[in-house]
Amino acid sequence: MYNRYNIMFPRVLAKVLIIILFFTTLPIACAPAEPLPVSSTIPEPVFSGSRAYQDAATQMGFGPRTPNSEGHAKTVSWLLDVLQAAGWETEIQTAAYNDYTIQNVIARRGSGTPWIILGAHYDTRIFADHDPAPQKRTQPVPGANDGASGVAVLTELARVLPRNPDGTLWLVFFDAEDNGRIADWDWILGSQAFVASLEGRPDAMVLVDMVGDADLQIYRERNSDGALTDEIWGVAESIGYGDQFISAPKYRMLDDHIPFLQAGIPAVDLIDFDYPYWHTTADTLDKISAQSLAAVGDTLLHWLLAHPPGETVP
Ligand SMILES: [Zn+2]
Repeated sequence: MYNRYNIMFPRVLAKVLIIILFFTTLPIACAPAEPLPVSSTIPEPVFSGSRAYQDAATQMGFGPRTPNSEGHAKTVSWLLDVLQAAGWETEIQTAAYNDYTIQNVIARRGSGTPWIILGAHYDTRIFADHDPAPQKRTQPVPGANDGASGVAVLTELARVLPRNPDGTLWLVFFDAEDNGRIADWDWILGSQAFVASLEGRPDAMVLVDMVGDADLQIYRERNSDGALTDEIWGVAESIGYGDQFISAPKYRMLDDHIPFLQAGIPAVDLIDFDYPYWHTTADTLDKISAQSLAAVGDTLLHWLLAHPPGETVP
């Protein structure tokens, strides 16, 4: 390979070329069958939609994650396993609500600013009271989209995010979000308990809820912080998810971002509320897709990696 150039080029030029070729082709020459890293820099993390989808399937395999259910307990245990295996510091934060013990699962890493919290609720609704069939309205919601999808985006991010992030990163899995308008219950109990005991002021909070719909369209949520929304929708557009992140406002949601906003913390809710299976027994795995989970996870990954240490968010 090198000889051919030696004959054709003047001596000095050939020497230079050989040196260039030597350094640029050496790794390939050593192991031609194996693709090798281009340089010694750390490879860019990649969010896997299929792994996230598998995380949703795992949660669905536990059954409904209603308070005090077996599926709920299995989810808490599984979350701790996944987070600890990925090197996160974990904690179960508890709070009493009537006879129930709220359990928020918290994962932490890093230090300093910016301090960013990503959140999702892992519980599922006790009753599928929006089911078109009246006899099914006392059954629990399976929660593939309303529960498992947001958690799946966070668990996959937990695997791929840098072990030493720029600033402080918390992943919070909220309990008891989804039982409003049911006797003795209310909405967003876990996130309210979390914010009530929170010390310090995070720079930003991003909530993912119902982000798995195979026909994903996330409109700007009207209660969310405008600047934070601008920034995340801008990242989504720039990496090719403009069809999933619609730059128009639509719904005003009561969701786990509200206690943060009430505490003066910029917060945003990523939610696709145009989901015909919401609070029905048909909120099942076949309604969500790996592609939708990837659109959200990939956007958040790029957004997180775009914040250097010390910088304010957004
Ligand atoms: Zn719900």
